[in-house]
Amino acid sequence: MKIYIDEEKCTGCGSCQLACPKGPSVYSMKEHDGRIVAVVLDASYCLGCRLCINVCEADAITLEN
Ligand code: SF4
Ligand code: SF4
Repeated sequence: MKIYIDEEKCTGCGSCQLACPKGPSVYSMKEHDGRIVAVVLDASYCLGCRLCINVCEADAITLEN
């Protein structure tokens, strides 16, 4: 699984990390260019459940097999 975060869309809300069953392994929140954004730490933990996509109101997450 590959996970892409669109940093232009991401609001840094942290919902993806909270919703993901493997949240702390997959997602981290980082400061980038003065904004907080979600970054992918290790997509190999991803279960493919799509919960993160469902909770992301900014529509910033894309999953690819
Ligand atoms: S849920 Fe979406 S907007 Fe919120 S931190 Fe995650 S990727 Fe960014
Ligand atoms: S698809 Fe599920 S397991 Fe994979 S990153 Fe999103 S919430 Fe986590």
